[in-house]
Amino acid sequence: MNIDAGTMRPTEHGEVYVLNDGGEVDLDLGNYERYLNVTLSRDNNITTGKIYSQVIEKERKGEYLGKTVQVIVPHITNAIQDWIERVSKIPVDESGEEPDVCMVELGGTVGDIESAPFVEAMRQFQFRVGHDNFALIHVSLVPDMHGEQKTKPTQTTVHSLRGLGLLPDLIACRLLVPQPLNPATKDKISMFCHVASEQVFGVHDVTSVYHVPLLLQSQGIVDFLRKRLKLETVNITKEMEDKGRSLGKRWKDITMGYERLFDTVTIALVGKYTDLKDSYMSVTKALEHSAFRVHRKLIVHWVESSDLEAETQESAPARYHDAWRAVVGAGGILVPGGFGNRGTEGMLLAIKYAREQKVPFLGICLGFQLAVIEWARNILEIHDATSSEFVPDAKHPVVIFMPEISKTHMGGTMRLGLRPTVFEPGTENWSRVRKLYGGAGKIWERHRHRYEVNPEYVKRLNDSGLIFAGKDEKGERMQIIELPDHPFFVGLQAHPEFCTRPLNPSPPFLGLIAAASETSVLDEQTAFQAQTYHPPHPKHAMVGEAVLKNSTEEVFVNGVSKDGQNGVDVVQVVNRDEA
Ligand code: GLN
Repeated sequence: MNIDAGTMRPTEHGEVYVLNDGGEVDLDLGNYERYLNVTLSRDNNITTGKIYSQVIEKERKGEYLGKTVQVIVPHITNAIQDWIERVSKIPVDESGEEPDVCMVELGGTVGDIESAPFVEAMRQFQFRVGHDNFALIHVSLVPDMHGEQKTKPTQTTVHSLRGLGLLPDLIACRLLVPQPLNPATKDKISMFCHVASEQVFGVHDVTSVYHVPLLLQSQGIVDFLRKRLKLETVNITKEMEDKGRSLGKRWKDITMGYERLFDTVTIALVGKYTDLKDSYMSVTKALEHSAFRVHRKLIVHWVESSDLEAETQESAPARYHDAWRAVVGAGGILVPGGFGNRGTEGMLLAIKYAREQKVPFLGICLGFQLAVIEWARNILEIHDATSSEFVPDAKHPVVIFMPEISKTHMGGTMRLGLRPTVFEPGTENWSRVRKLYGGAGKIWERHRHRYEVNPEYVKRLNDSGLIFAGKDEKGERMQIIELPDHPFFVGLQAHPEFCTRPLNPSPPFLGLIAAASETSVLDEQTAFQAQTYHPPHPKHAMVGEAVLKNSTEEVFVNGVSKDGQNGVDVVQVVNRDEA
Protein backbone atom coordinates (compact mmCIF):
# COMPACT_ATOMS: atom_id res chain seq x y z
CA MET A 1 0.00 0.00 0.00
CA ASN A 2 3.01 2.33 0.11
CA ILE A 3 2.84 5.22 -2.35
CA ASP A 4 6.57 5.10 -2.88
CA ALA A 5 9.67 3.56 -1.35
CA GLY A 6 10.82 6.85 0.21
CA THR A 7 9.48 6.14 3.66
CA MET A 8 10.63 2.52 3.81
CA ARG A 9 13.43 1.34 6.07
CA PRO A 10 16.47 0.27 4.05
CA THR A 11 17.26 -2.61 6.40
CA GLU A 12 13.85 -4.12 5.68
CA HIS A 13 13.31 -3.31 2.07
CA GLY A 14 16.73 -2.60 0.61
CA GLU A 15 17.88 0.62 -0.91
CA VAL A 16 15.52 3.44 -1.85
CA TYR A 17 16.37 4.11 -5.47
CA VAL A 18 16.04 7.67 -6.80
CA LEU A 19 15.12 8.62 -10.36
CA ASN A 20 15.84 11.78 -12.36
CA ASP A 21 12.44 13.27 -11.59
CA GLY A 22 12.95 12.64 -7.88
CA GLY A 23 10.75 9.54 -7.74
CA GLU A 24 11.74 7.35 -4.78
CA VAL A 25 11.25 3.81 -5.96
CA ASP A 26 12.00 0.16 -5.40
CA LEU A 27 15.56 -0.94 -6.08
CA ASP A 28 14.41 -3.10 -9.02
CA LEU A 29 14.11 0.07 -11.07
CA GLY A 30 17.83 0.50 -10.61
CA ASN A 31 18.44 -2.92 -12.10
CA TYR A 32 16.33 -2.01 -15.12
CA GLU A 33 18.04 1.34 -15.66
CA ARG A 34 21.47 -0.23 -15.41
CA TYR A 35 20.77 -3.30 -17.52
CA LEU A 36 18.79 -1.62 -20.26
CA ASN A 37 20.65 1.68 -20.17
CA VAL A 38 17.37 3.57 -19.93
CA THR A 39 16.20 6.52 -17.85
CA LEU A 40 12.92 6.00 -16.05
CA SER A 41 10.52 8.26 -14.21
CA ARG A 42 8.45 7.87 -11.04
CA ASP A 43 5.43 6.57 -12.96
CA ASN A 44 7.46 3.58 -14.09
CA ASN A 45 6.90 2.29 -10.59
CA ILE A 46 3.32 1.27 -9.88
CA THR A 47 2.28 0.49 -6.34
CA THR A 48 -1.10 -0.48 -4.93
CA GLY A 49 -0.95 2.74 -2.90
CA LYS A 50 -0.52 4.87 -6.03
CA ILE A 51 -3.38 3.19 -7.87
CA TYR A 52 -5.77 3.32 -4.93
CA SER A 53 -5.05 6.94 -4.12
CA GLN A 54 -5.61 7.88 -7.77
CA VAL A 55 -8.93 6.04 -7.86
CA ILE A 56 -10.04 7.41 -4.48
CA GLU A 57 -9.18 10.95 -5.54
CA LYS A 58 -11.28 10.52 -8.68
CA GLU A 59 -14.14 9.15 -6.63
CA ARG A 60 -13.98 12.19 -4.34
CA LYS A 61 -14.14 14.48 -7.35
CA GLY A 62 -17.29 12.65 -8.44
CA GLU A 63 -15.72 11.42 -11.65
CA TYR A 64 -17.35 8.01 -11.43
CA LEU A 65 -20.79 9.60 -11.72
CA GLY A 66 -22.37 7.88 -8.77
CA LYS A 67 -21.27 4.36 -9.66
CA THR A 68 -20.05 1.89 -7.02
CA VAL A 69 -16.25 2.02 -7.17
CA GLN A 70 -14.83 -1.51 -7.27
CA VAL A 71 -11.53 -3.31 -7.09
CA ILE A 72 -11.83 -5.85 -9.86
CA VAL A 73 -14.04 -4.51 -12.58
CA PRO A 74 -13.70 -1.86 -13.75
CA HIS A 75 -12.17 0.82 -11.55
CA ILE A 76 -8.94 -0.46 -10.06
CA THR A 77 -8.15 -2.84 -12.92
CA ASN A 78 -8.83 -0.10 -15.47
CA ALA A 79 -6.66 2.34 -13.58
CA ILE A 80 -3.80 -0.21 -13.71
CA GLN A 81 -4.20 -0.78 -17.44
CA ASP A 82 -4.47 2.94 -18.22
CA TRP A 83 -1.39 3.56 -16.15
CA ILE A 84 0.66 0.94 -18.00
CA GLU A 85 -0.52 2.13 -21.38
CA ARG A 86 0.31 5.76 -20.59
CA VAL A 87 3.74 5.03 -19.14
CA SER A 88 4.70 2.66 -21.97
CA LYS A 89 4.71 5.66 -24.31
CA ILE A 90 7.17 7.79 -22.35
CA PRO A 91 10.59 7.94 -24.07
CA VAL A 92 13.35 6.37 -22.01
CA ASP A 93 16.48 7.12 -23.96
CA GLU A 94 18.44 9.59 -26.00
CA SER A 95 16.30 8.94 -29.11
CA GLY A 96 13.38 10.70 -27.45
CA GLU A 97 11.11 8.23 -29.24
CA GLU A 98 8.25 6.17 -27.96
CA PRO A 99 9.61 2.75 -26.88
CA ASP A 100 8.81 -0.31 -29.02
CA VAL A 101 8.46 -2.73 -26.15
CA CYS A 102 7.22 -2.19 -22.63
CA MET A 103 8.31 -4.67 -20.00
CA VAL A 104 6.13 -5.03 -16.92
CA GLU A 105 7.42 -6.84 -13.87
CA LEU A 106 4.57 -8.06 -11.73
CA GLY A 107 6.01 -8.92 -8.34
CA GLY A 108 4.63 -11.35 -5.81
CA THR A 109 3.31 -14.86 -6.32
CA VAL A 110 0.45 -16.12 -8.43
CA GLY A 111 -2.53 -16.53 -6.14
CA ASP A 112 -1.56 -14.03 -3.43
CA ILE A 113 -4.15 -11.48 -2.41
CA GLU A 114 -1.94 -8.42 -2.86
CA SER A 115 -1.29 -9.08 -6.53
CA ALA A 116 -4.79 -10.28 -7.47
CA PRO A 117 -6.03 -6.97 -8.98
CA PHE A 118 -2.82 -6.72 -11.01
CA VAL A 119 -3.10 -10.28 -12.35
CA GLU A 120 -6.69 -9.58 -13.34
CA ALA A 121 -5.65 -6.30 -14.96
CA MET A 122 -3.10 -8.24 -17.02
CA ARG A 123 -5.74 -10.75 -18.06
CA GLN A 124 -7.86 -7.92 -19.41
CA PHE A 125 -4.87 -6.14 -20.88
CA GLN A 126 -4.04 -9.00 -23.25
CA PHE A 127 -7.38 -8.34 -24.96
CA ARG A 128 -6.94 -4.59 -24.89
CA VAL A 129 -3.65 -4.73 -26.82
CA GLY A 130 -4.20 -7.96 -28.75
CA HIS A 131 -2.45 -11.32 -28.75
CA ASP A 132 0.49 -10.19 -30.90
CA ASN A 133 1.27 -7.42 -28.45
CA PHE A 134 1.25 -9.35 -25.23
CA ALA A 135 3.71 -12.03 -24.16
CA LEU A 136 3.92 -13.45 -20.69
CA ILE A 137 7.01 -14.83 -19.01
CA HIS A 138 6.29 -16.83 -15.90
CA VAL A 139 9.17 -17.21 -13.46
CA SER A 140 9.04 -20.29 -11.33
CA LEU A 141 11.35 -21.90 -8.80
CA VAL A 142 12.53 -25.39 -9.64
CA PRO A 143 13.85 -26.83 -6.38
CA ASP A 144 16.89 -29.05 -6.65
CA MET A 145 16.63 -31.87 -4.12
CA HIS A 146 20.08 -33.42 -3.98
CA GLY A 147 20.38 -33.37 -7.73
CA GLU A 148 16.77 -34.13 -8.51
CA GLN A 149 14.98 -31.21 -10.17
CA LYS A 150 11.39 -30.94 -8.96
CA THR A 151 8.71 -29.72 -11.34
CA LYS A 152 5.65 -29.84 -9.10
CA PRO A 153 5.73 -26.19 -7.92
CA THR A 154 5.94 -25.05 -11.56
CA GLN A 155 3.07 -27.31 -12.57
CA THR A 156 0.98 -25.97 -9.71
CA THR A 157 1.60 -22.28 -10.37
CA VAL A 158 1.06 -22.62 -14.10
CA HIS A 159 -2.19 -24.35 -13.27
CA SER A 160 -3.24 -21.45 -11.02
CA LEU A 161 -2.20 -18.97 -13.66
CA ARG A 162 -4.40 -20.70 -16.23
CA GLY A 163 -7.24 -20.61 -13.75
CA LEU A 164 -6.81 -16.83 -13.68
CA GLY A 165 -6.99 -16.68 -17.46
CA LEU A 166 -3.32 -16.24 -18.31
CA LEU A 167 -1.17 -18.60 -20.39
CA PRO A 168 2.59 -18.35 -20.15
CA ASP A 169 4.53 -17.88 -23.39
CA LEU A 170 7.79 -18.63 -21.66
CA ILE A 171 8.46 -20.40 -18.40
CA ALA A 172 11.71 -19.31 -16.81
CA CYS A 173 12.79 -22.06 -14.43
CA ARG A 174 14.91 -20.63 -11.68
CA LEU A 175 17.35 -23.13 -10.18
CA LEU A 176 19.24 -22.05 -7.09
CA VAL A 177 22.18 -24.31 -7.95
CA PRO A 178 24.96 -24.09 -10.53
CA GLN A 179 23.58 -27.08 -12.51
CA PRO A 180 21.60 -26.21 -15.64
CA LEU A 181 18.04 -27.38 -16.20
CA ASN A 182 18.09 -31.07 -17.31
CA PRO A 183 16.62 -31.80 -20.75
CA ALA A 184 14.35 -34.35 -19.07
CA THR A 185 13.04 -31.74 -16.61
CA LYS A 186 12.48 -29.36 -19.46
CA ASP A 187 10.43 -31.95 -21.34
CA LYS A 188 8.43 -32.79 -18.28
CA ILE A 189 7.55 -29.13 -17.69
CA SER A 190 6.69 -28.74 -21.35
CA MET A 191 4.44 -31.76 -21.21
CA PHE A 192 2.62 -30.99 -17.95
CA CYS A 193 2.39 -27.23 -18.43
CA HIS A 194 1.22 -27.53 -21.99
CA VAL A 195 3.92 -25.44 -23.68
CA ALA A 196 6.49 -26.36 -26.31
CA SER A 197 9.91 -27.33 -25.08
CA GLU A 198 11.44 -24.15 -26.69
CA GLN A 199 9.22 -22.20 -24.35
CA VAL A 200 10.93 -23.57 -21.25
CA PHE A 201 14.07 -21.72 -20.17
CA GLY A 202 16.55 -22.74 -17.51
CA VAL A 203 17.98 -20.01 -15.30
CA HIS A 204 20.52 -21.63 -13.00
CA ASP A 205 23.07 -19.90 -10.77
CA VAL A 206 25.87 -18.42 -12.84
CA THR A 207 29.08 -16.77 -11.69
CA SER A 208 27.65 -13.27 -11.90
CA VAL A 209 24.38 -11.56 -12.77
CA TYR A 210 26.08 -10.21 -15.88
CA HIS A 211 26.03 -13.74 -17.29
CA VAL A 212 22.24 -13.93 -17.16
CA PRO A 213 21.53 -12.03 -20.40
CA LEU A 214 24.06 -14.31 -22.14
CA LEU A 215 22.43 -17.39 -20.65
CA LEU A 216 18.99 -16.30 -21.86
CA GLN A 217 20.32 -15.37 -25.27
CA SER A 218 21.93 -18.79 -25.67
CA GLN A 219 18.48 -20.35 -25.24
CA GLY A 220 16.99 -18.23 -27.98
CA ILE A 221 15.03 -15.61 -26.06
CA VAL A 222 15.68 -12.92 -28.64
CA ASP A 223 14.38 -14.96 -31.56
CA PHE A 224 11.44 -16.21 -29.60
CA LEU A 225 10.27 -12.76 -28.58
CA ARG A 226 11.02 -11.28 -31.97
CA LYS A 227 8.62 -13.77 -33.54
CA ARG A 228 6.07 -13.79 -30.76
CA LEU A 229 5.73 -10.01 -30.62
CA LYS A 230 6.22 -9.60 -34.38
CA LEU A 231 9.14 -7.31 -33.86
CA GLU A 232 10.25 -7.64 -37.49
CA THR A 233 7.97 -4.70 -38.15
CA VAL A 234 10.10 -2.44 -35.95
CA ASN A 235 12.38 -0.34 -38.06
CA ILE A 236 15.92 -0.96 -36.85
CA THR A 237 18.49 1.22 -38.58
CA LYS A 238 21.94 0.00 -39.52
CA GLU A 239 23.38 2.33 -36.89
CA MET A 240 21.21 0.85 -34.15
CA GLU A 241 22.17 -2.64 -35.21
CA ASP A 242 25.89 -1.85 -35.18
CA LYS A 243 25.52 -0.24 -31.77
CA GLY A 244 23.73 -3.33 -30.47
CA ARG A 245 26.37 -5.67 -31.82
CA SER A 246 29.20 -3.67 -30.35
CA LEU A 247 27.40 -3.50 -26.99
CA GLY A 248 26.88 -7.27 -27.10
CA LYS A 249 30.55 -7.84 -27.77
CA ARG A 250 31.77 -5.50 -25.06
CA TRP A 251 29.31 -7.03 -22.60
CA LYS A 252 30.54 -10.52 -23.39
CA ASP A 253 34.23 -9.54 -23.19
CA ILE A 254 33.81 -7.92 -19.81
CA THR A 255 31.64 -10.69 -18.35
CA MET A 256 33.87 -13.50 -19.53
CA GLY A 257 37.07 -11.60 -18.78
CA TYR A 258 36.04 -11.03 -15.18
CA GLU A 259 36.33 -14.76 -14.48
CA ARG A 260 39.97 -14.83 -15.37
CA LEU A 261 41.10 -11.97 -13.15
CA PHE A 262 43.79 -12.44 -10.52
CA ASP A 263 44.29 -8.98 -9.12
CA THR A 264 41.85 -7.73 -6.54
CA VAL A 265 40.76 -4.39 -5.21
CA THR A 266 39.41 -4.12 -1.67
CA ILE A 267 37.02 -1.48 -0.41
CA ALA A 268 35.82 -1.04 3.16
CA LEU A 269 32.20 0.04 3.08
CA VAL A 270 31.54 1.73 6.40
CA GLY A 271 27.80 2.07 6.89
CA LYS A 272 24.94 1.40 9.24
CA TYR A 273 22.68 -0.84 7.20
CA THR A 274 25.27 -3.54 6.53
CA ASP A 275 23.00 -6.31 7.87
CA LEU A 276 21.05 -6.13 4.65
CA LYS A 277 23.49 -5.72 1.79
CA ASP A 278 20.63 -4.74 -0.55
CA SER A 279 20.55 -1.41 1.31
CA TYR A 280 23.66 -0.56 -0.65
CA MET A 281 22.68 -2.16 -3.95
CA SER A 282 23.58 0.71 -6.28
CA VAL A 283 26.74 1.52 -4.34
CA THR A 284 27.89 -2.08 -4.75
CA LYS A 285 27.01 -2.01 -8.43
CA ALA A 286 28.95 1.23 -8.94
CA LEU A 287 32.00 -0.40 -7.31
CA GLU A 288 31.55 -3.54 -9.39
CA HIS A 289 31.27 -1.64 -12.68
CA SER A 290 34.41 0.30 -11.78
CA ALA A 291 36.27 -2.92 -10.91
CA PHE A 292 35.31 -4.27 -14.36
CA ARG A 293 36.95 -1.26 -15.91
CA VAL A 294 40.26 -1.65 -14.08
CA HIS A 295 40.25 -5.45 -14.57
CA ARG A 296 40.27 -6.38 -10.92
CA LYS A 297 38.06 -8.55 -8.81
CA LEU A 298 36.15 -6.54 -6.24
CA ILE A 299 36.26 -7.46 -2.57
CA VAL A 300 34.01 -5.49 -0.24
CA HIS A 301 34.68 -5.42 3.49
CA TRP A 302 31.33 -4.68 5.08
CA VAL A 303 31.96 -2.68 8.23
CA GLU A 304 29.15 -1.79 10.64
CA SER A 305 30.26 1.71 11.59
CA SER A 306 29.30 1.50 15.27
CA ASP A 307 31.76 -1.38 15.61
CA LEU A 308 34.57 1.15 15.09
CA GLU A 309 33.52 3.22 18.09
CA ALA A 310 35.26 3.28 21.48
CA GLU A 311 32.16 1.89 23.16
CA THR A 312 32.41 -1.34 21.17
CA GLN A 313 36.04 -1.63 22.19
CA GLU A 314 34.73 -1.93 25.76
CA SER A 315 31.62 -4.02 25.17
CA ALA A 316 32.75 -6.30 22.33
CA PRO A 317 36.52 -6.00 21.83
CA ALA A 318 36.70 -8.76 19.21
CA ARG A 319 34.14 -7.01 17.02
CA TYR A 320 35.94 -3.74 17.43
CA HIS A 321 39.25 -5.23 16.35
CA ASP A 322 37.72 -7.14 13.44
CA ALA A 323 36.05 -3.96 12.22
CA TRP A 324 39.27 -1.96 12.37
CA ARG A 325 41.20 -4.79 10.72
CA ALA A 326 38.68 -4.66 7.86
CA VAL A 327 39.17 -0.91 7.47
CA VAL A 328 42.94 -1.01 7.68
CA GLY A 329 43.11 -4.00 5.32
CA ALA A 330 41.27 -2.21 2.53
CA GLY A 331 42.75 -0.24 -0.34
CA GLY A 332 39.99 2.34 -0.16
CA ILE A 333 37.24 3.51 2.21
CA LEU A 334 33.68 4.36 1.29
CA VAL A 335 31.14 6.04 3.55
CA PRO A 336 27.75 5.89 1.82
CA GLY A 337 24.47 7.72 2.45
CA GLY A 338 22.41 7.27 5.56
CA PHE A 339 20.05 8.84 8.04
CA GLY A 340 20.18 9.52 11.77
CA ASN A 341 22.89 9.71 14.38
CA ARG A 342 23.59 6.05 15.12
CA GLY A 343 26.98 4.92 13.87
CA THR A 344 28.13 8.34 12.71
CA GLU A 345 30.98 8.56 15.25
CA GLY A 346 32.41 5.36 13.78
CA MET A 347 32.15 6.79 10.28
CA LEU A 348 33.96 9.94 11.43
CA LEU A 349 36.80 7.79 12.80
CA ALA A 350 37.09 5.95 9.48
CA ILE A 351 37.16 9.26 7.59
CA LYS A 352 39.85 10.67 9.89
CA TYR A 353 41.91 7.54 9.30
CA ALA A 354 41.51 7.83 5.51
CA ARG A 355 42.43 11.51 5.51
CA GLU A 356 45.47 11.20 7.75
CA GLN A 357 46.82 7.95 6.33
CA LYS A 358 46.21 9.06 2.75
CA VAL A 359 43.95 6.11 2.03
CA PRO A 360 41.62 6.70 -0.96
CA PHE A 361 38.23 7.86 0.32
CA LEU A 362 34.81 8.49 -1.14
CA GLY A 363 31.97 10.01 0.88
CA ILE A 364 28.45 9.93 -0.49
CA CYS A 365 25.73 12.25 0.84
CA LEU A 366 25.91 11.51 4.59
CA GLY A 367 29.53 10.45 3.97
CA PHE A 368 30.19 13.84 2.37
CA GLN A 369 28.55 15.71 5.25
CA LEU A 370 30.58 13.70 7.77
CA ALA A 371 33.84 14.41 5.93
CA VAL A 372 33.08 18.12 6.37
CA ILE A 373 32.31 17.60 10.06
CA GLU A 374 35.49 15.57 10.55
CA TRP A 375 37.53 18.40 9.04
CA ALA A 376 35.80 21.01 11.20
CA ARG A 377 36.47 18.96 14.33
CA ASN A 378 40.04 17.92 13.72
CA ILE A 379 41.52 20.67 11.54
CA LEU A 380 39.50 23.73 12.57
CA GLU A 381 39.36 22.34 16.11
CA ILE A 382 35.66 22.98 16.52
CA HIS A 383 35.40 19.90 18.69
CA ASP A 384 31.62 19.86 18.98
CA ALA A 385 31.02 20.44 15.26
CA THR A 386 28.09 18.31 14.14
CA SER A 387 24.95 18.17 12.00
CA SER A 388 21.60 19.47 13.17
CA GLU A 389 20.26 16.08 12.07
CA PHE A 390 22.15 14.52 15.01
CA VAL A 391 21.89 17.38 17.54
CA PRO A 392 18.89 19.62 16.75
CA ASP A 393 20.06 22.59 18.85
CA ALA A 394 23.79 22.18 18.22
CA LYS A 395 26.14 25.04 19.04
CA HIS A 396 28.26 24.40 15.96
CA PRO A 397 26.03 22.96 13.25
CA VAL A 398 28.42 22.60 10.33
CA VAL A 399 25.64 20.75 8.53
CA ILE A 400 22.14 22.24 8.75
CA PHE A 401 18.58 21.57 7.76
CA MET A 402 17.65 23.02 4.39
CA PRO A 403 15.17 25.82 5.06
CA GLU A 404 12.74 25.02 2.23
CA ILE A 405 12.13 21.42 3.28
CA SER A 406 9.19 20.25 5.39
CA LYS A 407 10.03 19.15 8.93
CA THR A 408 6.69 17.50 9.54
CA HIS A 409 6.17 15.43 6.40
CA MET A 410 8.61 12.65 5.64
CA GLY A 411 7.26 11.41 2.29
CA GLY A 412 8.68 13.03 -0.84
CA THR A 413 9.88 16.14 0.96
CA MET A 414 13.61 15.91 0.48
CA ARG A 415 15.73 17.60 -2.15
CA LEU A 416 15.32 14.88 -4.70
CA GLY A 417 16.28 14.01 -8.23
CA LEU A 418 18.70 15.10 -10.94
CA ARG A 419 20.46 18.40 -10.15
CA PRO A 420 23.43 20.15 -11.68
CA THR A 421 26.76 20.70 -9.96
CA VAL A 422 29.03 23.42 -11.30
CA PHE A 423 32.78 23.07 -10.81
CA GLU A 424 34.60 26.06 -9.40
CA PRO A 425 36.84 28.10 -11.72
CA GLY A 426 40.39 26.75 -11.66
CA THR A 427 39.35 23.16 -10.88
CA GLU A 428 40.05 22.26 -14.51
CA ASN A 429 43.75 22.44 -13.61
CA TRP A 430 43.83 20.13 -10.65
CA SER A 431 40.54 18.41 -9.79
CA ARG A 432 40.62 14.64 -10.25
CA VAL A 433 36.85 14.32 -10.01
CA ARG A 434 36.33 16.90 -12.70
CA LYS A 435 38.69 15.04 -15.04
CA LEU A 436 37.01 11.74 -14.22
CA TYR A 437 33.77 13.38 -15.34
CA GLY A 438 35.46 14.21 -18.64
CA GLY A 439 36.48 17.75 -17.66
CA ALA A 440 33.08 19.40 -18.16
CA GLY A 441 32.29 22.45 -16.07
CA LYS A 442 28.85 21.18 -15.14
CA ILE A 443 27.74 17.69 -14.22
CA TRP A 444 24.39 16.12 -13.30
CA GLU A 445 23.68 13.63 -10.53
CA ARG A 446 20.69 12.55 -8.48
CA HIS A 447 20.15 13.87 -4.97
CA ARG A 448 18.26 12.75 -1.89
CA HIS A 449 18.84 14.80 1.24
CA ARG A 450 17.35 17.16 3.80
CA TYR A 451 20.56 18.64 5.22
CA GLU A 452 23.41 20.60 3.67
CA VAL A 453 26.71 22.27 4.56
CA ASN A 454 26.09 25.41 6.64
CA PRO A 455 27.09 28.44 4.49
CA GLU A 456 28.39 30.20 7.61
CA TYR A 457 31.30 27.79 7.86
CA VAL A 458 32.17 27.54 4.18
CA LYS A 459 34.85 30.23 4.12
CA ARG A 460 36.71 28.86 7.14
CA LEU A 461 36.59 25.34 5.78
CA ASN A 462 37.78 26.39 2.34
CA ASP A 463 40.54 28.67 3.67
CA SER A 464 41.88 25.84 5.81
CA GLY A 465 42.24 23.58 2.76
CA LEU A 466 38.99 21.63 2.42
CA ILE A 467 38.16 22.62 -1.15
CA PHE A 468 34.56 22.87 -2.26
CA ALA A 469 35.25 21.98 -5.86
CA GLY A 470 31.62 21.88 -6.97
CA LYS A 471 28.51 23.83 -5.98
CA ASP A 472 24.93 24.16 -7.13
CA GLU A 473 24.16 26.57 -9.97
CA LYS A 474 23.72 29.54 -7.68
CA GLY A 475 26.95 28.77 -5.84
CA GLU A 476 25.01 28.53 -2.57
CA ARG A 477 25.05 24.80 -1.88
CA MET A 478 28.27 22.89 -1.38
CA GLN A 479 28.16 19.70 -3.45
CA ILE A 480 31.68 18.32 -3.94
CA ILE A 481 34.72 18.35 -1.69
CA GLU A 482 38.16 17.30 -2.77
CA LEU A 483 41.55 17.44 -1.10
CA PRO A 484 44.27 18.42 -3.58
CA ASP A 485 47.17 17.01 -1.54
CA HIS A 486 45.67 13.57 -0.99
CA PRO A 487 45.80 10.65 -3.48
CA PHE A 488 41.98 10.57 -3.60
CA PHE A 489 39.76 12.19 -1.00
CA VAL A 490 36.39 13.07 -2.48
CA GLY A 491 32.90 13.66 -1.16
CA LEU A 492 29.66 14.35 -3.01
CA GLN A 493 26.35 15.58 -1.68
CA ALA A 494 24.75 13.72 -4.61
CA HIS A 495 24.32 9.98 -5.05
CA PRO A 496 26.32 9.21 -8.20
CA GLU A 497 25.77 5.46 -7.65
CA PHE A 498 22.24 5.81 -9.05
CA CYS A 499 23.60 6.55 -12.53
CA THR A 500 26.32 3.94 -12.88
CA ARG A 501 26.28 1.59 -15.89
CA PRO A 502 28.15 -1.69 -16.36
CA LEU A 503 30.07 -0.25 -19.31
CA ASN A 504 30.08 3.35 -18.08
CA PRO A 505 31.00 3.29 -14.41
CA SER A 506 30.17 6.23 -12.18
CA PRO A 507 33.22 8.57 -12.26
CA PRO A 508 33.72 9.10 -8.49
CA PHE A 509 33.46 5.35 -7.86
CA LEU A 510 35.87 4.68 -10.68
CA GLY A 511 38.24 7.17 -9.04
CA LEU A 512 38.01 5.36 -5.70
CA ILE A 513 38.49 1.91 -7.23
CA ALA A 514 41.38 3.06 -9.42
CA ALA A 515 43.09 4.85 -6.53
CA ALA A 516 42.58 1.81 -4.31
CA SER A 517 44.25 -0.33 -6.99
CA GLU A 518 47.43 1.64 -7.72
CA THR A 519 48.39 5.25 -8.39
CA SER A 520 49.27 4.43 -11.98
CA VAL A 521 45.78 2.97 -12.48
CA LEU A 522 44.23 6.19 -11.22
CA ASP A 523 46.35 8.24 -13.60
CA GLU A 524 45.49 5.94 -16.48
CA GLN A 525 41.75 6.06 -15.80
CA THR A 526 41.75 9.81 -15.23
CA ALA A 527 43.38 10.33 -18.62
CA PHE A 528 41.02 7.86 -20.28
CA GLN A 529 37.92 9.45 -18.76
CA ALA A 530 39.09 12.95 -19.70
CA GLN A 531 39.03 11.76 -23.33
CA THR A 532 36.03 9.49 -23.45
CA TYR A 533 33.50 10.11 -20.67
CA HIS A 534 29.91 10.74 -21.67
CA PRO A 535 27.10 11.14 -19.13
CA PRO A 536 24.44 8.40 -19.05
CA HIS A 537 21.55 10.88 -19.03
CA PRO A 538 19.56 11.69 -22.16
CA LYS A 539 20.28 15.28 -23.21
CA HIS A 540 16.80 16.51 -22.48
CA ALA A 541 17.28 15.58 -18.82
CA MET A 542 20.24 17.89 -18.41
CA VAL A 543 18.43 21.12 -19.04
CA GLY A 544 17.86 22.93 -15.83
CA GLU A 545 17.20 22.92 -12.16
CA ALA A 546 14.13 21.09 -10.92
CA VAL A 547 12.10 23.59 -8.98
CA LEU A 548 9.36 22.57 -6.63
CA LYS A 549 6.55 25.03 -7.30
CA ASN A 550 4.12 23.51 -4.89
CA SER A 551 3.54 20.09 -3.43
CA THR A 552 2.22 18.51 -6.61
CA GLU A 553 3.67 20.47 -9.45
CA GLU A 554 7.30 20.19 -10.33
CA VAL A 555 8.83 21.80 -13.37
CA PHE A 556 12.28 21.61 -14.84
CA VAL A 557 13.42 25.04 -15.89
CA ASN A 558 16.47 26.62 -17.41
CA GLY A 559 18.24 29.27 -15.41
CA VAL A 560 18.79 31.22 -18.62
CA SER A 561 16.27 31.46 -21.44
CA LYS A 562 17.11 30.34 -24.96
CA ASP A 563 17.85 33.87 -26.18
CA GLY A 564 20.46 34.21 -23.47
CA GLN A 565 18.38 36.58 -21.36
CA ASN A 566 17.73 35.85 -17.74
CA GLY A 567 14.46 34.17 -17.08
CA VAL A 568 13.10 30.71 -17.28
CA ASP A 569 12.07 28.36 -20.00
CA VAL A 570 9.78 25.57 -18.94
CA VAL A 571 11.29 22.48 -20.46
CA GLN A 572 9.41 19.61 -18.97
CA VAL A 573 6.47 19.36 -16.65
CA VAL A 574 6.62 16.33 -14.47
CA ASN A 575 3.81 14.38 -12.88
CA ARG A 576 0.92 16.66 -13.68
CA ASP A 577 -1.43 15.45 -16.37
CA GLU A 578 -3.47 18.61 -16.39
CA ALA A 579 -0.58 21.07 -16.46
N1 GLN B 1 20.72 12.31 6.32
C1 GLN B 1 21.37 13.20 5.42
C2 GLN B 1 20.42 14.26 4.86
O1 GLN B 1 19.23 14.10 4.91
C3 GLN B 1 22.03 12.44 4.29
C4 GLN B 1 21.04 11.79 3.41
C5 GLN B 1 21.64 10.71 2.58
O2 GLN B 1 22.74 10.24 2.84
N2 GLN B 1 20.92 10.26 1.59
O3 GLN B 1 20.85 15.26 4.36
